[in-house]
Amino acid sequence: MRVLILEDDQQLALGLIQTLQNEHYVVDHFDKVQLGLNATSQEHYDLVLLDLGLPDADGFSFLKAFRQHHTTPVLILTARDSIDDKIHGLDLGADDYLPKPFDINELQARMRALLRRSSGQANNTLEYGDVCIDTQSRQVSFQNNPVTLSRREYNLLEVLMQNQGKVMSRTSLEQSLYSWQDDIESNALEVHIHNLRKKIYGKLITTVRGVGYTVITL
Ligand code: CA
Repeated sequence: MRVLILEDDQQLALGLIQTLQNEHYVVDHFDKVQLGLNATSQEHYDLVLLDLGLPDADGFSFLKAFRQHHTTPVLILTARDSIDDKIHGLDLGADDYLPKPFDINELQARMRALLRRSSGQANNTLEYGDVCIDTQSRQVSFQNNPVTLSRREYNLLEVLMQNQGKVMSRTSLEQSLYSWQDDIESNALEVHIHNLRKKIYGKLITTVRGVGYTVITL
């Protein structure tokens, strides 16, 4: 899952980045509205954490521009907790609103809820035949036996399972797995797919030649 953080409080941003990376999110951080809009025009994000008081413009203006092109969940994190700000944010298309200071565990639970909702999941479990993954604990099992995956292998499997039936292009998969700072080896995706096929079972992931990969709906 790739998250965009728009926040100009550097200390808060660093804390968030570290916590979310430890939870295996792929994170990009910017401190200005314009930089956030540039990033979202080029990259795919699964969730946006948005501060309202940013140095170059109001977070609401980001939201307004972003909503013209994206349905990605947006969670507003702000010290402004007047009812009017909340209503305005939600009316502009924010999905949730958490006043600062917030509890990091509550933030993570709200993020999971938004991500479940946007992928149509009722709970934290994704299943495909004998493959089962728990998106909260990041545990994977195949035929009821636990499977150990690397961070990127897990992230890749989760994206594919969440998009069952859809063909995912190489680019969109790479965008889910890597942040701007990551160097991507040109065959990295193929290596992860290869490892997943070995560790789980070969038929789970189908290659769609010239397009990408898919987990076909059972
Ligand atoms: Ca701020």
